[in-house]
Amino acid sequence: MERLWTAARALEQQATAWRRDFHTYPELGLCEYRTAWRIMDLLTAWGYEVSFGRAVMDPDLLYGLPAPEVMEQKRLRAMGEGVPQALTEQMKGGMTGIVATIQGTGDGKTVAFRFDMDCNEVTEATEGHRPAGEGFASLHAGEMHACGHDGHCAIGLTLAKILADHRDAFSGQVKLIFQPAEEGVRGAKSMVGAGILDDVDCFFAGHIGIGARENGTLAALTEGFLACTKADACFTGRASHAGLAPEEGKNALLAAAQAAVSLHGISRHGKGASRINVGVLQAGAGRNVIPDRGVVKFETRGETAEIDEYMQSEAHRILQACADLQGVTLDYEIKGSSLSHEPDRKTGAEIAALARESGQYERVFDCLPMNASEDCTYFLEEMRKQGKPCAFLMLGSALAAGHHNGRFDFDESVLWRSAGLLACLAATYTKR
Ligand SMILES: [Zn+2]
Ligand SMILES: [Zn+2]
Repeated sequence: MERLWTAARALEQQATAWRRDFHTYPELGLCEYRTAWRIMDLLTAWGYEVSFGRAVMDPDLLYGLPAPEVMEQKRLRAMGEGVPQALTEQMKGGMTGIVATIQGTGDGKTVAFRFDMDCNEVTEATEGHRPAGEGFASLHAGEMHACGHDGHCAIGLTLAKILADHRDAFSGQVKLIFQPAEEGVRGAKSMVGAGILDDVDCFFAGHIGIGARENGTLAALTEGFLACTKADACFTGRASHAGLAPEEGKNALLAAAQAAVSLHGISRHGKGASRINVGVLQAGAGRNVIPDRGVVKFETRGETAEIDEYMQSEAHRILQACADLQGVTLDYEIKGSSLSHEPDRKTGAEIAALARESGQYERVFDCLPMNASEDCTYFLEEMRKQGKPCAFLMLGSALAAGHHNGRFDFDESVLWRSAGLLACLAATYTKR
């Protein structure tokens, strides 16, 4: 283990450089052309067997694709930044996920690690913000790595390099999963549904910050994942002259407005916590026109999948009732989904012990609360169903501001330290 930590430490500057490159060129979910290209290029050079796109994703299980014109604009931008055209063609339709495998020395288990690649629709701060001060601020207006996924990609690459340089340190196989579109919980189900976990014996993932906000801190497990569903409801009515023939109109604005208010009135569930939020309400065209279109974008959450399903089925019932009331039609589309997850305490205790023994951490927690949603729960629940070890770690770092804020930034020492720990997990769990 000692030499894996030494290797990780030696890659500190390189890890930081990778992170800063990803930070400079952030890409929104399902448009991670350049990010995926950079990752695949390096992994291939280091001897990994690399698959991507349709080989590792089920397009039918992908949620919330951006509008075609947006995806095309981002694809052309990526080509302008050096991504080969043929590769961008193969990634069309959100097919930006990657799975890379490497064999160790001798027989052993298959251990998988998952990293997310997408950025946020956030405008990066400039004044008094380190990325701007040190020359690695986002070059993409309105897009920013404000959740630390640039760091996750850098950790994945650093881990990949350590393993490629120390194949004799692990047996069996290591599988690195680079997932698109965690934001909006859109990408994970498509990768799990493609069967990429079928040969996996053990699974790890993690997130920078969240509950662990001090450098040198680790939580071996995370609890309190809320199951979450994001959905759009689109009401379509009939436009007419508000003075001459209002009776000919069907008012979609009223249906949307009624729905927004009524959705917040869904009864709570006795078995646990729930959430609902209508975040977007759009309707209407002109003052003297009966509005023929109304859109409600909302999300529900639940302490368990059962509670979230209850919130969704109530929401659907209310939306349909509001449509019926106004005589308009309803289109209802799920845009993203994640599950709840009960953490694997036994594996968590083993990871915590390993981290404490390493002497690389000042504080190690067995488990910290999340109280948010993560689509990594699709991976975690698949492993749990099969009774296989899994963990979602919290990688501690001081933060300049909270996640999804334009001033978000983390301490880059989390990169090499996390890669070192994951390399030790690869060495340990491939030999189980
Ligand atoms: Zn986020
Ligand atoms: Zn995140």
